[in-house]
Amino acid sequence: ELAIENVTKRFGDTEVLKGVSLTIQDGEFLSLVGPSGCGKSTLLRLIAGLETQTSGSIRLAGQDVQGVRAADRNLSMVFQSYALYPHLSVRDNIAVPLRMRRMTGRQRLPVVGRVMPGARAATRQMAADVTHAAKTLEIDHLLDRKPGQLSGGQRQRVALARAMVRDPAAFLLDEPLSNLDAKLRVQTRVEIAELHRRLGATFVYVTHDQVEAMTMSSRIAVMMGGQILQCAAPDQIYEDPADIQVAEFIGAPK
Ligand code: ATP
Ligand code: MG
Repeated sequence: ELAIENVTKRFGDTEVLKGVSLTIQDGEFLSLVGPSGCGKSTLLRLIAGLETQTSGSIRLAGQDVQGVRAADRNLSMVFQSYALYPHLSVRDNIAVPLRMRRMTGRQRLPVVGRVMPGARAATRQMAADVTHAAKTLEIDHLLDRKPGQLSGGQRQRVALARAMVRDPAAFLLDEPLSNLDAKLRVQTRVEIAELHRRLGATFVYVTHDQVEAMTMSSRIAVMMGGQILQCAAPDQIYEDPADIQVAEFIGAPK
């Protein structure tokens, strides 16, 4: 369970989040929608640990994560710009979270060259994990390429493979499809839905696209001006929007 309680965030004297409360169940697919600038990315960045809230609390599986580093939160974030390393192969890009864990984690392992007991097995496991993620997203034939040699949709899948490689408790996806053309969007949307079904992990999905939110989510949270106006199942929001702003944003009759 991911529990956000009365979270505020201030940048200078602007309050960007004005008391956000939201509880997301394990395995849920929650879409976060709302107009540009309403605070969606900020909320995701707080959950990921890339920013710190001004007040309020965020708990993951019952544990307050204040002060817990991003790398230790067992979450994977995928941005709109895929943020792949251009000089690394697809294989090495996908392996980045695993290498980071090896370097910073408790099971500190030796670097290449000084092979100690267990290191070989760990390296084999890492290669297997990378291959598995690449197969799931059908990019295993692209492992030796560089990001510059891929299409937008393929880069997107590399970013998703990198996000799933460490088996996170939750995926935080910030408009991951916004750089794709209409056809690829639909295709990748289906792939993300399938990934969710297969992994059973929690997904928090920021999108500008109401159709995307309607078709993919178990619940939709509608955000405006730093607050969540309504959070409910798609058909419920559509049939019974909390107010005129929600109705207009969702495109529901009112
Ligand atoms: P979009 O749909 O355009 O991505 P968003 O809902 O993700 O918008 P945020 O990126 O969360 O919006 O930004 C919310 C508000 O906070 C905006 O007004 C933005 O200018 C402001 N903001 C975000 N990050 C910072 C920052 N580091 N410093 C100052 N202001 C910021
Ligand atoms: Mg944003």
